[in-house]
Amino acid sequence: MCEKCQKIVLFFVSIIAIIAVLTWLTAEKEPAASSAKLTVVVSTFSQYEAACAVAGDTLHIRSIIPLGSDAHMFSPNPTQVADISKAALFVYNGAGFETWADDLKNTLPKTVQVLDMSQYVTLIKSEENHSDEHEKNHDVYEHGAFDPHYWLDIDNMIKMTETLDAQFSKILPVNAKKFHENATAYIDKLKILKSHYVKGLAECKNRTLITNHDAFGYLAHANKLEDISVIGLSSDEQPSAKTIANIIEIVKEHKIKTIFFEELISDNVAQTIAREAGVKAQPLQPLENISEDELKLHQTYLTIMEDNLKKMRESMECR
Ligand SMILES: [Zn+2]
Repeated sequence: MCEKCQKIVLFFVSIIAIIAVLTWLTAEKEPAASSAKLTVVVSTFSQYEAACAVAGDTLHIRSIIPLGSDAHMFSPNPTQVADISKAALFVYNGAGFETWADDLKNTLPKTVQVLDMSQYVTLIKSEENHSDEHEKNHDVYEHGAFDPHYWLDIDNMIKMTETLDAQFSKILPVNAKKFHENATAYIDKLKILKSHYVKGLAECKNRTLITNHDAFGYLAHANKLEDISVIGLSSDEQPSAKTIANIIEIVKEHKIKTIFFEELISDNVAQTIAREAGVKAQPLQPLENISEDELKLHQTYLTIMEDNLKKMRESMECR
């Protein structure tokens, strides 16, 4: 080949090489854009944990209730509503826990799939409170006939995980196998936790659980405990003097050692009762939300439930 011909060939080879490199570079970018993670917005902490466990790193899971806040009192601001509108899936607790969700779901664009988790778990009716307060205070139940704190029954947490597995597989079918593997691994951990509860609460001196806010009905029901709450299902009620006096009587009568209170709401009432009855007041975590400190300490549904069990075993003098 002549020298000039060689130069021409080299020139064209270089051009082709440059085009090839450019094509490769743009081609590299395209899959990245199309595989941008889908967002799933969830409400309560237990949903957040189950969703993260099932999704692994394949979906972007966002919890909208700010860390450390009282989840009963939360309602989304316009920015948060806009975030939910952009999500592929919005999961909420239901059973009256988020009073804002029913209105919101009707205004969301059709691109957002909505999942009311309470439809997939076993619900129990709102317990009649042991105080006389509820007789005249029936508006407590206006949210619904069911107790919304269902994640505290570990079997429900398993159902929630299975539901997220199925739902995630619908929005991202290509990852169905991975979702199922992740869900199975997390459910195995939940089953171990459940076995600790069954064994740990099998033989106890007393089985009465007194708490300030009525969040532990499912935990009591699943473990055959009697649960008495000072205030009702919503966290902003105030008990009457008569209710407080009744509870103090129960504490003395049943030789109860601890009054439990929920960490993220006021513990004044629990502290007052404990002081007057001469017993201990201790926090029990209902997992509606977690605090920044708990998150920093890598606390999870699993670790907090183990911690709750330890405190109950101590208080109820379990073997
Ligand atoms: Zn609650």
